[in-house]
Amino acid sequence: MSRKVYIVGAGPGAADLLTLRAATVLRAAQIVLHDDLVPQEILDLCPASTQVINVGKRCGRHGRSQEQINALMVWHARETQNQTIVRLKSGDPAVFGRLGEELDALRRAGVEFEIIPGVTAASAAAASAKITLTDRRAASALVVVTAHNCRNASLSETVDPARCTYALYMPGPDYSKTVQGLFESGHEPTTPCAVVSNAGRANEEVRYLTLQELASAKGISAPAMLIVGEVAREHTPQRREDLLSEIAREAINPHHDGFPIHPALG
Ligand code: SAH
Repeated sequence: MSRKVYIVGAGPGAADLLTLRAATVLRAAQIVLHDDLVPQEILDLCPASTQVINVGKRCGRHGRSQEQINALMVWHARETQNQTIVRLKSGDPAVFGRLGEELDALRRAGVEFEIIPGVTAASAAAASAKITLTDRRAASALVVVTAHNCRNASLSETVDPARCTYALYMPGPDYSKTVQGLFESGHEPTTPCAVVSNAGRANEEVRYLTLQELASAKGISAPAMLIVGEVAREHTPQRREDLLSEIAREAINPHHDGFPIHPALG
C-alpha cells in the first residue's frame, strides 16, 4: 500500500458493518489514530505491531485538540517510515467528523490521502428501528443535522440553505430543472456544487461547478449524486490562500483551545 493517510469510516460500531476496504486498510495499518466511539472489536483487526492511539475527545474528558490531531497525522505521514496511516472515525467520516478541518491540514501539508466511507449512524439507527429514512409517499428529504454546533446557532438558523449541504439523489437527467428548484429554495447561482457519477466505482467522475454552470452542463453519466453547498468548493490554490488566512485568524481567536502542537512540528 502506498504511503498515505487513509481516513476510514468505522461504521456504527459492529465489526461486520465495516466495509471490506476499511478492513483491508486496517489489516495493513502501521499507525491508527482513532476516536472514542470506535470499539475494540474493530481495533482488533489491526496487526499486533500496529501503533494504536486513541485521540478521542469526548465531552468532559481531557483529550487531544483538533490541531494536535491534525499535526499528528501530518507528522506521521511526513516524518516517520509509516506507509499506511489510518485516521479511524465512527460512522462515516464526512458526517459530523471534523473531516473538513483534517482535509484542510493534509492538503496544506501536501500529504496524500484517501477517504473510505462508512455506514453513518442515521442509516444504522433506521435499520435498528426498522424504519425508512425517506418514503416517496411521506418524506422526500432527509435532514442530517447536529444538535450541537460551534456557533451556538438555533435549529432554524442551522437549516439555513446558505449554511447547509444538500445531497441530492436522482439529480438528473434535467439538471437545469434541478438547479431552478435550488434557486427557488434560496440558493445563489454562484453556490458551489460537486456532481459525482459512479461514486466509488472504477469509472467514477467528479465535476466541481457552480449551480449556474451545472444548469447547462452536458454529458453527466448516471447514476449521479449532486452535493450542493460550501463544502463542495474546489480546492484551488486560491482556496488554499483563503484557508491560510482563515487559519491565521484562528491563531488569534481567544476561543482557540490553546493546546501546544507536537514539538517536532514546530
Ligand atoms: N461520523 C459519525 C457521527 C459522529 S457524531 C457517523 O457518521 O455516524 C457522534 C454521534 O453519532 C453520537 O453522539 C450519536 O448521536 C451518533 N452515533 C454514533 N454511533 C452511533 C450508534 N452506534 N448508535 C446511535 N448513535 C450513534
